[in-house]
Amino acid sequence: MTAVAPPLFGGPVPAIEPGMVPGNPDESSLIPADMHPPVDLAEDLERFNGKLATYLKPEEITRVGAAYVFADAAHRGQLRLTGDPYISHPLAVAQNLASWHLDANALMAALLHDVMEDTAITKEQIAVRFGKVAAELVDGVSKLDRIEHQSFEEAQAENFRKMLLAMARDVRVILIKLSDRLHNMQTLDAMRPEKRRRIARETLDIYAPIANRLGLNALYRELQELAFSHAHPLRYRVLSKAVKGARGNRREVVGRIVEAIRKALPEAGIDAEVKGREKHLYGIYRKMRDKHLSFSQVLDIYGFRIVVKNRPTCYLALGALHALYQPVPGKFKDYIAIPKANGYQSLHTTLIGPFGTPVEIQIRDAHMHHVAESGVASHWLYKDESAIDQLQQKTHKWLQSLVELQSASGDSSEFLEHVKVDLFPGEVYVFSPKGKIFALPRGSTPVDLAYAVHTDIGDRCVACRINFETMPLRTELRNGDRVEIITAPNAAPNPAWLGYVKSARARSKIRHFLNTKQNEESAALGERLLSHALRDLGLALAKLPAQAWDRFKRASGARSQKAVMAEIGLGKRLPAIVARRLAEGVEVSPSAANEGRAKPAILIHGPEGVAIKLGNCCRPIPGDPIVGMIRKGQGLVVHTHDCRAIAKLRSERGNWVDVEWEPGITGLFEASIKVVAKNVRGVLARIAADIAEAGSNIVNISMDDDSGEATTLFFTLQVSDRVHLAHILRSVRRIPEVVRITRYVETKP
Ligand code: MN
Repeated sequence: MTAVAPPLFGGPVPAIEPGMVPGNPDESSLIPADMHPPVDLAEDLERFNGKLATYLKPEEITRVGAAYVFADAAHRGQLRLTGDPYISHPLAVAQNLASWHLDANALMAALLHDVMEDTAITKEQIAVRFGKVAAELVDGVSKLDRIEHQSFEEAQAENFRKMLLAMARDVRVILIKLSDRLHNMQTLDAMRPEKRRRIARETLDIYAPIANRLGLNALYRELQELAFSHAHPLRYRVLSKAVKGARGNRREVVGRIVEAIRKALPEAGIDAEVKGREKHLYGIYRKMRDKHLSFSQVLDIYGFRIVVKNRPTCYLALGALHALYQPVPGKFKDYIAIPKANGYQSLHTTLIGPFGTPVEIQIRDAHMHHVAESGVASHWLYKDESAIDQLQQKTHKWLQSLVELQSASGDSSEFLEHVKVDLFPGEVYVFSPKGKIFALPRGSTPVDLAYAVHTDIGDRCVACRINFETMPLRTELRNGDRVEIITAPNAAPNPAWLGYVKSARARSKIRHFLNTKQNEESAALGERLLSHALRDLGLALAKLPAQAWDRFKRASGARSQKAVMAEIGLGKRLPAIVARRLAEGVEVSPSAANEGRAKPAILIHGPEGVAIKLGNCCRPIPGDPIVGMIRKGQGLVVHTHDCRAIAKLRSERGNWVDVEWEPGITGLFEASIKVVAKNVRGVLARIAADIAEAGSNIVNISMDDDSGEATTLFFTLQVSDRVHLAHILRSVRRIPEVVRITRYVETKP
């Protein structure tokens, strides 16, 4: 048996090492003797080869040929449902791309596009053999295939389309994917009816609109027709029969109009190609369904397309036609001056033809026609024509709105390397475990997603799994991620989230929660502080008459009792002053005065209070004797007794509060230490290791100029209390190079 591929593609074909192609242990030669391609496959190959010869260099054709041989060997023994050898599918996909004149890398990727999914061949193996670009393209298509297999809600088709486009990144990946879908639709008959309907539905919802978005009109229409015939086989048959019949009946009218136009245009000196426009069945069906029209109402409109040589002639032709038949007012549209979003350009007008029948006319020049039919692909398809510059400019202009264009050179392969699809650069699309798609700002994290789902989910989220793996909440989400949020009933938003959330919604929800929490904590603290201050005056907060409060609110302009408490807690009002004002004219009760003597201290529960702060100057830790101080605008700040920053404030009266550590307090508190060590290599590492061993985290390290024999190191550590810190100090002191070690407090307040 003769080998088929090499003579067709020409040139030598690189050998495939055994082991790269799975499943065929007895395969020793490149083109095995048992390869009997059916006649059509050989014909297809010949046609493909012929197409390639029209625009690729011989060495590029050789590379594409090698990819074919490789894919054929990889899919050996695999059949499609149609009974054809599997390789007929990638070949058809590549053929279609060749008719768009796509570059060799895209064609190789098309031939190899199912290899990674169906066989054990890896991206790296493809990269070694066919280059990085082709491997990236195959990988991109495979990624889209994997997404496809996830479920999605029908109402989310728009998000799904955006997600596919955002994931593809390279426009060639989408073109391969669309071509793949086209061939699958063309060979859908072999599938079970129920599966056929599902795939047809998906084609209508997802792939046809993507083709439309990219301006690939011929493909768009073909996908729609195929999908319509599989989604509604009966309606398709009835409608297609009816259209055939109607066309027969109206042939005479249509013929007269075409003839009149074909005569009128040359008379006006215009060279034009006039075509009766076949409305496609899905378009007719949709019009009937959406506008509740009868079949005859839809078909009463005739469509013609007129293609002329250049842009000015379009307007001349329009004038000639408006002279021929009466135009319908309000139906003229100039898509030449203002092109559609996908680059489409044409003049549209509706005329009143013979017998009063409306006639729809599209007028465009040859380049507009190419763009209208092939959209994004027209860039590569017509690159060799003389008018390329103008077309290229137009296409570029349009592409710039679609893609991130880094470098545009005349060479299409180089151009392609740099064309990246970035249709939705600001967004990232992720799945919930139930298959719902969420669009989030790019850079979003699982916390953003949690708040997008529901405020309660956001407020209670504690962890997440991305693609079934537990990940930190700050992980940046990528397109197509499946994200599961884990919540806990008593969890609450963490202020640190504000450092990395991207969505405005998450940000405002977290802020809202923290503000509310701060208000409540502050009000609770304020109440305790006020109650202390009142006891000093021999009064009990609970027994204060309502008139005292009313008087105070009127005099101070405060909104409510609770607002006053919150303001005291935040340090905006001083408790002693509020207490004195409230006390004016109120009789002192002896019992409250007695209680005042046994005034309990305010307990400090932990390091992270919103209303109570630990002084940055002295960094108190549990075990340190402490004192609380209220200053305007700062709320309650806790200092160590010997804090130097507060020494000079000692004389201020009324601002001091008794505070105590809550017994059995837990949590991590920051403390600083200063270490003087001999300036030898590795000493820092040894100290750090010792600190870690003592069960502490290092938050920050800084050092003084280490020019001398000794160096001074400053560590900020997390410790649970004084005992813990003492243990660390003892442990580090044992290192021989350590000269001196002390707890350190900064001098500035
Ligand atoms: Mn495929």
